[in-house]
Amino acid sequence: MKKSNLIICALAVAVLSVLSSCGRRDGAGKPQVVVSIMPVYDVACVIAGDSVDVVCLLPRGGNPETYEPTMSQYVDVEHSDAFMYVSNTGFEAAIADRLKENATGGLAIADLSSGVDLLYGTHGDCGHEHHHHSGCSHGDVDPHVWSSAKNMRVIARNVCDVLKKVDAPHADYYDTNLAVVLSEIDSLDAEMSRVLAPHRGKAFVVWHPSLSYFARDYGLEQISVGGQENKEASVTQLRQKIDKANGRGATVMVVQLNYDDRQAQVVNQQIGARVVNVDLLNADWAQQLKTVAYAIASEGND
Ligand SMILES: [Zn+2]
Repeated sequence: MKKSNLIICALAVAVLSVLSSCGRRDGAGKPQVVVSIMPVYDVACVIAGDSVDVVCLLPRGGNPETYEPTMSQYVDVEHSDAFMYVSNTGFEAAIADRLKENATGGLAIADLSSGVDLLYGTHGDCGHEHHHHSGCSHGDVDPHVWSSAKNMRVIARNVCDVLKKVDAPHADYYDTNLAVVLSEIDSLDAEMSRVLAPHRGKAFVVWHPSLSYFARDYGLEQISVGGQENKEASVTQLRQKIDKANGRGATVMVVQLNYDDRQAQVVNQQIGARVVNVDLLNADWAQQLKTVAYAIASEGND
């Protein structure tokens, strides 16, 4: 091996050690796959068990719509066996595009939202500005695909397919682990369906429109007041949203980690909803969705 390659490998290993990684890392022979966000990391780790190393790119607290991947992360992904992304958020698209350009054949690139019934136009005006996607070239697909138990079921199946491709001899093992994940997701979905069934049609407020799929799953109405991260809502727009929230009798406002909680509190003075803070990009995504479901079900039903 040439010296320059050695340096790159050493760099990749150094980077890997600081990224989240589950499973045993023996450094020899074991396949490695890279996923973009923590909810996917959670299900991928269960399905992979101790046969494949799973690495997650987006750090805790990171925002996939504004995050810029580092050069070391590109190198890291290029040295792995598969890159799995969920949607065309800026950083996922940037990595997938680059990988496709420099494809060497050995790396599987998988769009995990394949098979999901995608929503269009529910994410507001396209506010994403990235080097690789100026304007709205990726369409107006709602990127928050992971904020839904039903979608996570499709994602888990897709993850399993990728692992079976990367490590065919252990296909049965991955199928067994997938069954565990699917039964957990089924229980979660059944519990939220039961809790929310009496509240179909109910409206809830979110700061950023991150729960469109969740709202669709349970027949709820999402009213987003904050809009996009790099676009300030105008006073008129804000007024209209507040009036809508009040008119629809919303009693819960969901604020995601990373968004301006202080501004949300100020706006909420005119709505008077119960503020629920969640981190939908957490590995514990199931608990985060349940928190939202129980909040909506418990508020304003005396
Ligand atoms: Zn968004």
